[in-house]
Amino acid sequence: MTRRRFIADEVSGDRAALVGEHAGHLVRVLRARVGQEFDIATGDVVRRGRVASVGDGRVEFELGEEVSSVGLAEITLVLAVFKFDRMEWAIEKCTELGVSRIVPVIARRTDSHLAAASAKRVERWRRIARQASEQSRRAAPPEIAVPIKLAEALTLQVALRIVLAESEERTLLRDVVRPDASGGAVALAVGPEGGWTDDESQSFGQAGWISASLGNTILRAETAAMAATAVVASELYSL
Ligand code: SAH
Repeated sequence: MTRRRFIADEVSGDRAALVGEHAGHLVRVLRARVGQEFDIATGDVVRRGRVASVGDGRVEFELGEEVSSVGLAEITLVLAVFKFDRMEWAIEKCTELGVSRIVPVIARRTDSHLAAASAKRVERWRRIARQASEQSRRAAPPEIAVPIKLAEALTLQVALRIVLAESEERTLLRDVVRPDASGGAVALAVGPEGGWTDDESQSFGQAGWISASLGNTILRAETAAMAATAVVASELYSL
């Protein structure tokens, strides 16, 4: 039987703990009891964890042997801020698909209200990513950065940087992602609901990003994020 997996809030030697709401969920919903076993992700590895104590807002584990977990390639998703409900969906699904970092950016066509509210959303995005990571049995959640301006994101240091553009007519994403060209590290940029402006597309080009298409239908931003991640993951991941 596969054990439920949790990402520890605190780790010290052979002890780990979940705290606050995270612990509350384990106690209330899963009725955690002393002696029960779970898989506990401790940052770099996943270990067997036996519940040692259940207290108010705190569940402690004794950590045992290491259990194997999936190795992830390095996929950075540069995601223009768009409608929050759809953006949350993209964050959850792309976490399941294995992105290692999500960098929200304020694009020219990001709605100004969303742009103003986006910094306050980061904690919620991190919570969503952590839950999706536990559910999909990742060893650690993706890093979720605070929203930055596109100009800043253009200078990200990643071996292979690709901007997804529905106007791209020559280059398909699958043709630019080869493990040897990327060294296992790829950045993907997905625009907001209204797409990238011409100026933004030019800036990507000047900064050395490769423009690529996902085919000749126009996808919503969240669909494009998931599809692009899946295409890259299928090239870069191994068992
Ligand atoms: N400008 C479009 C919609 C943009 S879709 C319009 O309103 O008609 C939002 C984002 O999804 C785009 O900026 C792009 O990054 C991505 N996207 C959507 N369809 C795509 C495709 N076929 N190929 C590559 N990227 C796509």
